[in-house]
Amino acid sequence: MNMLYKSTRGGGKEVTASQAILQGLSADGGLFVPTHIPKLSKSLEELSRMDYRQTAFEVMRLFLTDFTDEELKTCIERAYDSKFDTEEFAPLRQTDEKTFYLELFHGPTIAFKDMALSILPHLMTTAAKKNHIENEIVILTATSGDTGKAALAGFADVPGTRIIVFYPKYGVSAIQEKQMVTQRGNNTTVIGITGNFDDAQTEVKRIFHDPAMQEKLDRAGYQFSSANSINVGRLVPQIVYYVYAYASLVRQGKITAGAEINFAVPTGNFGNILAAWYAKQIGIPVRKLICASNSNKVLFDFFSTGCYDRNREFILTASPSMDILISSNLERLVYLADGCDGEACRKRMEELSVTGSYNVTPEMEKTFADFYGNYCTEKETAEAIERCFEQHGYMIDPHTAVASGVVDKYRKETGDDTVTVIASTASPFKFNRFVLECFGKAEKEEDDFVLADRLSEMTKVPLPGAVEEIRTLSVLHDLVVDKEDMASAVLNALGIGS
Ligand SMILES: *Cc1c(COP(=O)(O)O)cnc(C)c1O
Repeated sequence: MNMLYKSTRGGGKEVTASQAILQGLSADGGLFVPTHIPKLSKSLEELSRMDYRQTAFEVMRLFLTDFTDEELKTCIERAYDSKFDTEEFAPLRQTDEKTFYLELFHGPTIAFKDMALSILPHLMTTAAKKNHIENEIVILTATSGDTGKAALAGFADVPGTRIIVFYPKYGVSAIQEKQMVTQRGNNTTVIGITGNFDDAQTEVKRIFHDPAMQEKLDRAGYQFSSANSINVGRLVPQIVYYVYAYASLVRQGKITAGAEINFAVPTGNFGNILAAWYAKQIGIPVRKLICASNSNKVLFDFFSTGCYDRNREFILTASPSMDILISSNLERLVYLADGCDGEACRKRMEELSVTGSYNVTPEMEKTFADFYGNYCTEKETAEAIERCFEQHGYMIDPHTAVASGVVDKYRKETGDDTVTVIASTASPFKFNRFVLECFGKAEKEEDDFVLADRLSEMTKVPLPGAVEEIRTLSVLHDLVVDKEDMASAVLNALGIGS
């Protein structure tokens, strides 16, 4: 059956998967959701005999129905290749009888966003062809660190695309900056701005929607598109690894096909855990989806009270990719929980933007019962890192540690001892300073690369290529502009006179 996508806010047109990927957001400001939920057409036993690419094909063909089999297979082959440092792409690491870590950090930027951002560019260029778009796609992104690099790595040298990334010159870590400014690829541009992340984000949004800019680009044969986490082209590839994780447990004889498991996910924008929820809907036996937050615990409060309330202090934590007060992807779940009532969803989102909060109804709680929410403080996060290393000799990053700590709380509270898979969203090498500080092994003035070597020694894990590489690479992007000059910097990068 052909799958269409409609807006969570009731307006806009129904579009095909490829159109949803190209547009990113619906015209009415809503997020695209599939009009029905498909079912896996292979049994769990059959899935257990498939490798990552075959699994990706089985899952993605259910959602991206206007792509041909050939097109999907080509996208998958180009995305999941030697850019990853393991042929398993998403290996499981067992720490005790009931606990597994699903390592999603074996891609070029050693964090889980690579899983989707390595395939999005290929889905997007295929989608452009299908829709007879001849313009080159220009990805314009503002980043607080991680997403920018993952998008750069994904789009670098993909024909038919250009990518321009703005980052706050004085607002990212030394390693994050080095990762970006050494980015290769003839179609990449990285620009520092003198303002903060919000300045960059606001101006990127303005440029993106500015009709004069759009017209200038169109005349030169370009058009903007967006790679952010609400894009269907990022959501769908994330469902794959939950299916693959379940199938791997069956293959390894750790569970029997049909047995329920839990997934625990360190959550920020709610994209990753929503993908796990879709995995359950299409037929993976899941008991609980454990939603783990850091001190910015909006989601924990939401699941406990039914009120989403962003009116609170924003806390900077050691798990920065989860420092979020508006979890954009939650809109999809709220819409689905309310019987796909677009008008009700639109009102809630308007309330959120005006008052900073909204409520859900008791009838919607049935859907939310799939989830268990809890959080870890900074101290609990550090303790989870120590405990995991001391008990199992396995080092985890602060984001993963938040989920690990929440799983402990969940087990104590509920007594549930179901096999649990924890999504491991970043390599500890990406956050080596915090990780080493947990063991009293880092001094403030020490260089990040010195710390990386120390972590490698301590864990007996070789330094990931992604870190080794940037140590010696030379800087290719050194432009810094004021935020007022971002639009002309975009035009310059594209070789268009302003
Ligand atoms: C983005 C990110 C998260 C949060 O994922 P969401 O899909 O936004 O919930 C967690 N951990 C790491 C390392 C990330 O980069």
